[in-house]
Amino acid sequence: MPGPRWRGNFKERGHRMTGPRDAILDVVNKKQGHLTADDIFFEVRKSYPGIGIATIYRTLDLFVRMGLVNKFDFGGGKSRYEFTSKEKHHHHLVCKNCGRVVDYDSFLDEETELIKKIEAELNRKHDFKIDSHQLDFYGLCKSCQREVK
Ligand SMILES: [Zn+2]
Ligand SMILES: [Zn+2]
Ligand SMILES: [Zn+2]
Repeated sequence: MPGPRWRGNFKERGHRMTGPRDAILDVVNKKQGHLTADDIFFEVRKSYPGIGIATIYRTLDLFVRMGLVNKFDFGGGKSRYEFTSKEKHHHHLVCKNCGRVVDYDSFLDEETELIKKIEAELNRKHDFKIDSHQLDFYGLCKSCQREVK
């Protein structure tokens, strides 16, 4: 149960872990996948019926700034959120036709080496301190390739 780690993280940075925040993070963690704010809203409302969608968005933004949650824009007009996990680091294949998102974690060993090199160079060149990255590939999934032909 990673709860205590989140709380420590919050305290360190001067944020308060409230019940609704805890519930939102819990949903993002447990449901996995790539959730929209509406998906999260639907789940969190079961335990916090009074919560508003604006609170969900604000809280997700906070989590993104804190590095607890990754935010993606795969197209289709809705941002998607996914729990950040070092152990489950992966990239995405995104179908532009049906919106399907495939998680993959092949090549991570090769990637670590290459990305570390790139990061070090970028850090140096731009006096930047990179702490994460996202890599999404766009195209057509198998069934959409058939459909489009
Ligand atoms: Zn990566
Ligand atoms: Zn598709
Ligand atoms: Zn993913």
